[in-house]
This record gives sequence, structure tokens and C-alpha cells, in this order.
Amino acid sequence: MLPIIPFAHSLIEEIVQPGDQVIDATCGNGNDTLLLSTLVEETGNVYASDIQEQAIHTTQQTIQEHKRNNVSYILDSHANLAEHLPSCTKENIAAIIFNLGYLPKSDKKIITQPASTKKAITQLLPYLKKGGRIVLVIYHGHVGGEIEKDAVLKLAAELDQKQYQVLQYQFINQQNTPPFVVAIERK
Ligand code: SAM
Repeated sequence: MLPIIPFAHSLIEEIVQPGDQVIDATCGNGNDTLLLSTLVEETGNVYASDIQEQAIHTTQQTIQEHKRNNVSYILDSHANLAEHLPSCTKENIAAIIFNLGYLPKSDKKIITQPASTKKAITQLLPYLKKGGRIVLVIYHGHVGGEIEKDAVLKLAAELDQKQYQVLQYQFINQQNTPPFVVAIERK
């Protein structure tokens, strides 16, 4: 069985093609942005957002070190991400990844929040193309994490099954509130 991060990445790798438009909604240190940038190649576009200047800076450095040139950086909450996207991305985004929680080795008080995460998911769903996926890696062991986890699970479970398939992938016998994956695929 794949561990959580490799499983999340496999959901992305299965569907993202060169030339695709994709989003990293919480770019942090840029690991997911780099994966997306590599998959869409030079003809594609990655939109990478974070609320922390430091995260955007680190992601820029990671991308430059790998000599890639297909990432647009958005220093804003993912709740406002739709306002930054060009109109051609509507119903045209292949994949969106969210890593919820705080940036490792950084200020643990700066965490993703239930209201903005829910707003981001709701506003970005219409941007998915058919077969496109939102992949969320949900860390919830920190203070505030459980409320966000419950909010995201509720939103995802209530999505219309005629329009979306929703998956939860979780190891249920691990200690210390391990992260799990929720994936939403547009039919
Ligand atoms: N995917 C990242 C990586 O590969 O390094 C790790 C992401 S980290 C778990 C969560 C990130 O979400 C932090 O960098 C934090 O600043 C960011 N964040 C928190 N609230 C946010 C918001 N409303 N909009 C966008 N990013 C947010």
C-alpha cells in the first residue's frame, strides 16, 4: 500500500499531461509545485499560491534550481485564488493540490483554516475540467486541525455524486493522527 504522499502524487501523476494547467493551492516549500511543473512540462502552466512570502520565495528558488519556467506565483489566500486565474482556466484545470496544516520547520501558528479552505475548494471546483481532480492531503494533529478536517470531510461528502467522485484514503491503525487523502474528481 502506498504511503500518503506517494498515493496523493500518484493521483496527480495518473491524470496530468504535458501542456495542462494545474494549481498548487498551498505551495509551502515547493515540493508539490515542482512535481506539477515537471508533469506539465514547458507547454503547461502551474499556479502556485501561499499566504507566506517565505513560502513563495522558497518555492521560486526550488523551481529556479530545477531550471523550470512554467510557474506563476500568487501571494494570497487560496480563498481568493479564483480572482487571480485567467478566464481560459475555467473548466480547464487538470489538477489542484492542497496540503493542509502548517509549513514544516516554520511558524506552527500559521495554518490553513476551515473557512478559507472551504471557500477555496468551492470556488475552484468549477475550474476543474472533466476528469480533473482536487487532491487534499489533510494533516490534522495540530491545534485547529480537527475542526478543518471535519469541515473538509463534510463539504466533500455532500458533493453531488452525479457530478463528482470523492475518495478518502487513510491508514486507520496508525498512532499520532497521521495525515490522510481526500480526492475529488469531476465526472
Ligand atoms: N505543499 C507544501 C510543500 O510541498 O512544501 C507544504 C504545504 S504546508 C503543509 C501548508 C502551507 O499552506 C503553508 O505554507 C501555509 O503558509 C499555507 N497556507 C496557510 N493558509 C493558506 C491560505 N489561506 N492560502 C494559501 N496557503 C495557505
